[in-house]
Amino acid sequence: MKRTVHVAVGTLAERSYDVVIQPGLLKSLPELIARNVGGRRVFVITDWNVQRLYTRRFFRRLNAAGVNACLLDVPAGEHSKNAKITLALQTQLLRLGIRRDSLVIAVGGGVVGDLAGFVAATVLRGVSYIQVPTTLLAQVDSSVGGKVGINHPFGKNLVGAFHQPFGVYIDPEVLRTLPVAEFRNGLAEVVKIAAALDRKLFDWLERSSKRIRKENVALIADMIAHAVALKAAVIEKDEFESGLRKALNAGHTIGHALEAASNYTIDHGAAVAMGLAAESRIALNMGALSQKEYARLMKLLQDLGLPTKSPRIKSRAKFFEALSLDKKSENATTKFSLLKGIGHAIIGVEVPTPFIKEIIDD
Ligand code: ADP
Ligand code: ZN
Repeated sequence: MKRTVHVAVGTLAERSYDVVIQPGLLKSLPELIARNVGGRRVFVITDWNVQRLYTRRFFRRLNAAGVNACLLDVPAGEHSKNAKITLALQTQLLRLGIRRDSLVIAVGGGVVGDLAGFVAATVLRGVSYIQVPTTLLAQVDSSVGGKVGINHPFGKNLVGAFHQPFGVYIDPEVLRTLPVAEFRNGLAEVVKIAAALDRKLFDWLERSSKRIRKENVALIADMIAHAVALKAAVIEKDEFESGLRKALNAGHTIGHALEAASNYTIDHGAAVAMGLAAESRIALNMGALSQKEYARLMKLLQDLGLPTKSPRIKSRAKFFEALSLDKKSENATTKFSLLKGIGHAIIGVEVPTPFIKEIIDD
């Protein structure tokens, strides 16, 4: 079954786009692109893993359908989200003759989406791009909303842009080959979206947790469509994260600090799950969340196989440094997007440092 979520950003219709979620979509997508691209040049960007699994065949089909396409690849992993690889991609695109009317297609996880999206946002002051996310995390979160960027020696995602895609094409079938740990990373973002925005999705996750497996494609497609629709509604109201969109940072303030304090040995999704657990504890201690709601959140995280406790923090100094360096906190005080009940986050909550210390000592 095909599900479409429309994302209406800004006032210009041409900036709005569709997110299409359909099992098997990867097979039919080349024909769809061929019908719509005209004579424009197409540049597909992927990573080595995804290339071997999917992009090579996708690229062959694009060419067979008559599209004038080139394939560019980068090593898999977070390390590729850097300035050196960005420059190398821009150089290749310019050498290959990219023009303002060309189309970039990002096929891969969040790393490829962020990197290729950033390259598309910057080369020739911006060309159109399509997201074809292949990890659950990218499908439910990073491919929608136009945040693109790379890492800087000072921290993750510190250089980037808002550049909305021309379309997002999600095939849940590709999750079958995704390692379970990566699948769980994506589930952490789904729990975040539900806990921050929608009690109904949260209830559904509680009911479905035992059946949520990457092989259960129809169920996963429903889950992705629900999460994407919620995220789209937020982006439509606050594209540039001046307010409401900050709700999507629930679990991320502590989560980012844990990632940094572990020297990024903790995965982003795992850190988000731990961050959600810790921040909910803060919300409980501050009286925003009831004991019952806190218990529900912890149980859901556990039922989905997500961690609720972090390993011992090796460097407290690094953890607290990351908290105040966190780009989501304005001044020295730490601002959180904190849960006030299930399905509702309040943004800009100033949490006194002792509350944070108490949780960390625990
Ligand atoms: P994220 O989407 O969590 O930001 P990455 O883009 O780094 O993370 O993807 C995580 C890993 O999974 C990478 O090694 C990537 O090559 C690999 N990968 C991406 N999509 C798939 C897939 N559908 N099947 C198997 N491996 C995949
Ligand atoms: Zn995240």
